[in-house]
Amino acid sequence: MDLARTDFYLDGRWVAASSGQTLAVGNPATEEVIATVPAGTAADVDRAVAAARAAFAGWAGTAPAERVACLDRLHAALSARADEIARTVALELGTPLKVATRVQVGLPLAVLRSYVELAARPPAPQTVGNSLVVREPVGVVGAITPWNYPLHQVVAKLAPALAAGCPVVLKPSELTPLVSYLLFEAIHDAGFPPGVVNLVTGTGPVVGEAIAAHPDVDMVSFTGSTATGRRISHLAADRIARVALELGGKSANVILDDADLATAVKVGVGNAFLNSGQTCTAWTRMLVHRDRYDEALALAAQAAAGYRLGDPFDPATRLGPLVSAAQRDRVRDHIAKGLADGGRLVAGGPDAAVPGRGFFVAPTVIADVDPDSALAQEEVFGPVLAVIPVDDDEHAVAVANNSRYGLAGAVWSADEERALRVARAMRTGAVDINGAPFNPLAPFGGYKQSGLGRELGSYGLDEFLQLKAIQR
Ligand code: NAD
Repeated sequence: MDLARTDFYLDGRWVAASSGQTLAVGNPATEEVIATVPAGTAADVDRAVAAARAAFAGWAGTAPAERVACLDRLHAALSARADEIARTVALELGTPLKVATRVQVGLPLAVLRSYVELAARPPAPQTVGNSLVVREPVGVVGAITPWNYPLHQVVAKLAPALAAGCPVVLKPSELTPLVSYLLFEAIHDAGFPPGVVNLVTGTGPVVGEAIAAHPDVDMVSFTGSTATGRRISHLAADRIARVALELGGKSANVILDDADLATAVKVGVGNAFLNSGQTCTAWTRMLVHRDRYDEALALAAQAAAGYRLGDPFDPATRLGPLVSAAQRDRVRDHIAKGLADGGRLVAGGPDAAVPGRGFFVAPTVIADVDPDSALAQEEVFGPVLAVIPVDDDEHAVAVANNSRYGLAGAVWSADEERALRVARAMRTGAVDINGAPFNPLAPFGGYKQSGLGRELGSYGLDEFLQLKAIQR
């Protein structure tokens, strides 16, 4: 299979990159290089932004029914490639194929479907006194995305931006760019007008900064680390461009004393380890009432032992590798520091067996974690769960809120009113009670340093619209 790519998608066609430089794409399960993609330059970004700018008026003025038809055709073209996409994510990211099929492909298809439907029902102009209030597309959107959900994070920006009437220039993560090439093949098949959707691959400091700082980019929609989000905000602030930021998290899973403990711990461990823990919403801190603490630790250790590490293409594998050697080393350092800071190893850890090849870290559970310590405060982005005892509901809320992040969280209790009180007291963008399912129409985004703005559903669409008041 030749996965090497040499071109970008600009102005409705595949064109050669301006420089001959390339970036290697690896397979984290084998540590082999599997492809190269072009390393874009600021000149490539200029070309992409110029194409998007030229397409703006036409796309903004396109009738909603025509935009719906384009998005609908994209959904069909992506669905036809579902297996290839799942295999590509398994290859370049290491997500076990079964999980990749369900989450890495299933979720973005569901999100895209939701925007086909939302685009068909654009918000009607409102009359407020003598004013007609209309919503208009914000303009050219620069989208910069990370590697951990490489199709979902792109679709969560592209679909609402396109539905709103905004052309897009995408820079996917340099670690997982191959899935974006499949997406753009589908975009080409869907027949969007030239310039409406553009792809430039490359590094953050070169292509990412060129997009964020570009005078003709009206909005930057970013998902990634809080440090990069801060840098992008500074670049966009110079020209007062709009930003939407989906950043890191350190979410708390609060297990109250009347919870169904077996389910709460099993689902909690599963959530923390999904995608090898490389999930921004992962419930990485498990807060358990003291009366149930020892029981919960035994259940967590048992659950962790069930996560078989291995080849992402083996159906028996439940946990793949981390995305890169650097990421594996970072996670190992976090584990070592967590233990040095007084954490007690309950499962996994530095000496647990892992496959000889690939960037694996054993599923790890650490108990008695000090809520102020690095392991409880910093995003690890690996299969590492910190367990913290709490005295009562008030204490649980205080520990949950002891974080500079506020992206997601969970509460478990037999008493839904009690769970709701705790959920409302948590300073975070989302809380799931008793393992309630993910809702792709609900607003997704963070409080505090987890971000700005919301994705998904009508809330995600609003990010790409601006209000105009016409008085008469
Ligand atoms: P990252 O911030 O290093 O990179 C994200 C993207 O930004 C990549 O495309 C990268 O090339 C680009 N980038 C890097 N430096 C840049 C710069 N100076 N200017 C412009 N662009 C730049 O993050 P990552 O390591 O790819 O992803 C992991 C992080 O993303 C984690 O912290 C995780 O929590 C966060 N994340 C958040 C969400 C969310 O929705 N809140 C989702 C997924 C990941």
